[in-house]
Amino acid sequence: MLVDSHCHLDAVEFGRTPAEVADEASAQGVDWIVVPAVERANFATVAEIARHHPRCVYALGIHPMYVPRADEQDLQRLREQVAAAMDDPRFVAVGEIGLDFFVPELKEPAMRDRQQHFYIEQLKIARDFGLPVILHVRRSQDQLLKQLRRFRVSGGIAHAFNGSEQQAAAFTDLGFVLGFGGAMSFTRALQIRRLAANLPLSNIVLETDAPDISPAWLHPAINTPAQLPRIAAVLAELRGQPVADIARHTTQNVARVLPRLGSLMMA
Ligand SMILES: [Zn+2]
Repeated sequence: MLVDSHCHLDAVEFGRTPAEVADEASAQGVDWIVVPAVERANFATVAEIARHHPRCVYALGIHPMYVPRADEQDLQRLREQVAAAMDDPRFVAVGEIGLDFFVPELKEPAMRDRQQHFYIEQLKIARDFGLPVILHVRRSQDQLLKQLRRFRVSGGIAHAFNGSEQQAAAFTDLGFVLGFGGAMSFTRALQIRRLAANLPLSNIVLETDAPDISPAWLHPAINTPAQLPRIAAVLAELRGQPVADIARHTTQNVARVLPRLGSLMMA
């Protein structure tokens, strides 16, 4: 069994319907796909995808790259939508939320503060509902960790992780697993490959982040969740472990940190 723990199935870049993209992935052996929201405008879309595709689940949140056009009402709306979605077994987390200090316009002091505000308010929502979070981590590891220590959530996934071994350990100490995807397939991605090879397997989940982060064999074409088995094979090779073990453990890890998805898997 394989789980794509991060895929923006509603993205227009696919040029196909979410159902077509998800069906192709299922045919390749991808059993579950986690679809995070990025802004208020797509909250209903990701819920709809999960309703229509039996192997998709979703998260609700405001992505740091969408913070510039988000407002306080969006946070209020998110809280209401999360409250309503607690009855929906396919709703599994708050996400995608986080901090991006790489994109130039997001690095300006005022926008850094604004990102922090949205991040903190969304951590509070996750905490209040006892939900895990799906984190966007870009040049922001320590700032994300600092708030996670203040606002204790039940863990989650630090997606597309890149950072030091010390930062990785800090996330896992707080109940997080780290998401690895196509970036591992680039031989120049030394730090990511070293982490993927050396971290305990209990701290790793697989993801495609499709349509972004195309693996080396596709680059620069659009990524899809159907690439996940090959990404699993890359991790297996880096670690010198059978791909079946990689699949089993990473699936167990997703079920552990996203317990609502774990319940669906057992149903
Ligand atoms: Zn994402």
